[in-house]
Amino acid sequence: MFWSLLLACSQTPQEPVKKPDIVLVVIDTLRADHLGVYGHRRPTSPTMDQLAKDGTWFHRAYAQSGWTLPSMASLMSGLYPHQHLVGRHSFRGNEFGKLSPEVVTLTEVLKTQGYATGAVVNNTFMAPEFNLKQGFDSYDYQGATNVEHRSARESIDLGMKWLDQQEGSTFLLLHFMEPHLNYEATVPYLGKFSKDNAAASEINLGELVGKSHRKTVPSRAVQEYVRQRYDEEILVVDEAMEYLLSELKVRSRWSNTALAITSDHGEEFWDHGGFEHGHTLKGELTRIPLILSGAVPKKGRVDDVVEHVDLVHGLLSLVGAPMMEGSSGVDLWKIADGTAKDADGIALSENILYGPPRVSAVDKDARLEFAFEANAGSLWVVDPDGLEREQVAPDLRQATGNRLSEAIKSIRGGLQPIDGAGGVSIEDYEMFNQLQSLGYIDAPEPTPPTPTKPADPTESAH
Ligand SMILES: [Zn+2]
Repeated sequence: MFWSLLLACSQTPQEPVKKPDIVLVVIDTLRADHLGVYGHRRPTSPTMDQLAKDGTWFHRAYAQSGWTLPSMASLMSGLYPHQHLVGRHSFRGNEFGKLSPEVVTLTEVLKTQGYATGAVVNNTFMAPEFNLKQGFDSYDYQGATNVEHRSARESIDLGMKWLDQQEGSTFLLLHFMEPHLNYEATVPYLGKFSKDNAAASEINLGELVGKSHRKTVPSRAVQEYVRQRYDEEILVVDEAMEYLLSELKVRSRWSNTALAITSDHGEEFWDHGGFEHGHTLKGELTRIPLILSGAVPKKGRVDDVVEHVDLVHGLLSLVGAPMMEGSSGVDLWKIADGTAKDADGIALSENILYGPPRVSAVDKDARLEFAFEANAGSLWVVDPDGLEREQVAPDLRQATGNRLSEAIKSIRGGLQPIDGAGGVSIEDYEMFNQLQSLGYIDAPEPTPPTPTKPADPTESAH
């Protein structure tokens, strides 16, 4: 009797197959090459390394920008910054774009597939004012400064509390702030890599916020100390990832969860003379980790050039959902399988937070970073590890420059700066103060943007 009942239950055909849960973890300011699986010399990431080895990881994955707001807008919309216009205005520094309600987001498409959608986010550029919340049933936002932010563990707890209230398939976005300045890891990780470095007394990490330090490059010992302190924060996040896994396993959710781990941008450690993020679009800022594990195809290491807009399509194709119209992204899994017909092998990055506008394209061999104001580009060889350390040799510059500038033109129509920024200015005092404390705003207090005519793009582009 007992067995026949069991058999009857297991043969019921009406039970719909539950689509996998999706957990998208974005770790702010995390450089790909500071993770073990990407070749880092310090053991910063045992959990994430294992997740990569058990799943699929992309060795040359790039973000659409070198700072949070435009990068996250691309991750939510599948669009490039010149399409979503969410970033810092190219000519009016206190003006930041917000996502147009007309843009269809990844979250909204998942909702149409029956997904419950929740987010726990902590970066000030993820504030509801920027509208990256579009499509989320639950959007738990808490602003951050460089000194204080909600921890990854606390964010996971809130995410699990939300998950526990859901019945169907779920999409959960978690955004962690640990590796962002000021590199003050929690005990027992603080000092793990840096404790024996005497250069500690030569630098005040609290004073590094928002500074490029191109004119005041510190000694090698100090640079190493800064990197060690940064790596300690990665350890904190890696431990949080282990916690996330255990919490999903306790809930019997892990076997049906597609976990994607990435970052919004990297961090400069004087690779090209500068520090922090938002100033350029080179590999140290745009090359990000991209690890998919759990209920996903297991492809191991993939070397093709991919970008965040491809990840958006990869997540949607995992659950059989349609792609957003207007997105240039290519299905990540087709790239991994070598079956993507229209993959151009180019990653485009645009919009910077500080200084005159730039645009950049990278393929498997080289990067072009074009500065509009100077009307000049720099060309870099991409190393086997995905970073740029040497300029392209003189005899190859013409052909390489032509190839990459033509690629940029074919993707975005031209090299000119992004004209417009969604049209919001920062008027909220609290948010303004947070952005200022993060070093993103130089002005002493909120001022309404002065309408100025953007420079004629034809003057600076060719
Ligand atoms: Zn960020």
